[in-house]
Amino acid sequence: MGWISKNWLMCGVMKGLAVTIKHFFQIGDRPVVTVQYPYERMEIADAFRGLHAVSEDRCIGCGICEMNCPNGSIRIVRHNKWYPQVNIGQCMFCGLCVDTCPMDAMVMTKKYELATRSKEMMIYNPDRLLFKE
Ligand code: SF4
Ligand code: SF4
Repeated sequence: MGWISKNWLMCGVMKGLAVTIKHFFQIGDRPVVTVQYPYERMEIADAFRGLHAVSEDRCIGCGICEMNCPNGSIRIVRHNKWYPQVNIGQCMFCGLCVDTCPMDAMVMTKKYELATRSKEMMIYNPDRLLFKE
């Protein structure tokens, strides 16, 4: 009771409630910053680092991406020629593999919905990474 008598106006609570009411009834010039995912999607920035992709024509299988990956997430594997395989369960999407590729063969796409039910599905072999230019 002592607390209520000292704070009978409950200014803090009222201020918070006012903010809630403003948002609820969309009072004032407040931009909406949330999107109704998955029905709506945000625009992805060009510099976004999503799932990797490897150009089939440019990649020479040199292994420099594998050497420079700080997490050991890349292995060069045989797939007709030698190409990188990426374990996105380990990858931290730093982009070093892309930056150090001498052939500009490795890129990062805007794909970000990568959840799976198994660890094995997180290993992207060349079949799932290669693209033709
Ligand atoms: S992606 Fe680039 S760095 Fe990696 S093996 Fe191919 S050419 Fe070499
Ligand atoms: S983005 Fe970074 S962590 Fe992921 S595979 Fe490339 S170098 Fe390794």
